[in-house]
Amino acid sequence: MAARAGKIPQQMQSSLAISGDDERWFLINASPDLAQQIERTPALQPRPNSPRNSPIVGVLLTNADLDHALGLLLLRQRETPLIVYATDETRAALDWINMVLKRFCGVEWRLVSRDFDSLSKSVAFRAISLPKSIALQFRDQSSNASALIAPAAGNLNDELHDAVKTSDLVLFDGTFWKDDELLAFRPGARRAREMNHLPIADGSLDFLRHSSARRKMYIHINNTNPILMPGSFERAQVERAGIEIARDGLEIAL
Ligand SMILES: [Zn+2]
Repeated sequence: MAARAGKIPQQMQSSLAISGDDERWFLINASPDLAQQIERTPALQPRPNSPRNSPIVGVLLTNADLDHALGLLLLRQRETPLIVYATDETRAALDWINMVLKRFCGVEWRLVSRDFDSLSKSVAFRAISLPKSIALQFRDQSSNASALIAPAAGNLNDELHDAVKTSDLVLFDGTFWKDDELLAFRPGARRAREMNHLPIADGSLDFLRHSSARRKMYIHINNTNPILMPGSFERAQVERAGIEIARDGLEIAL
């Protein structure tokens, strides 16, 4: 309501794009808002030298949630198969999308690895296993700087702890402020942790506050989360902890 009233910026569904050379891009989750996101991001738009092409080479999926996967269908009009990196579980859950895309560009599935694997000439990445999802850690091969991207993290296991410690940039699950956030809106709604999202208030805030990453940021923020409201008590706590709140169109050079 605040966004519709013009009090805060409107936000699209969470998605990121990464590139090592500004030419070939990979999406991290493909949201249902992808068409609009491409329109707002010149680097992701087809180049003028060919009528049908896209700088988007592939997609890395953190899980099979619809807000992460529906955008795959919007990439169907390609000349070449779409490369999709995922776990076996995510691939199996998205078999229906695979069947649909077979009649269009097709998908070239690639299994994510827990060891660093090359994504492009200058970028390597690895998957960190979490219950019901993965986080992704990227490394710039020339500077050795690394980024952790965890849009759906239900808890903090040792592997995720270590990845946060060794990353210069941390983009972390900011879906919910507190565990029972949705119960205020809908009786019987599931809790944040039941939906595979560690809440900020008694979950990730302290942990991220103490992380030594150069930049820390909440992403994947639900429209019930009070950190979206400027001047809110909750947003002030996040800012005091040195954590930024991501916004549409944000660009970060690693
Ligand atoms: Zn999501």
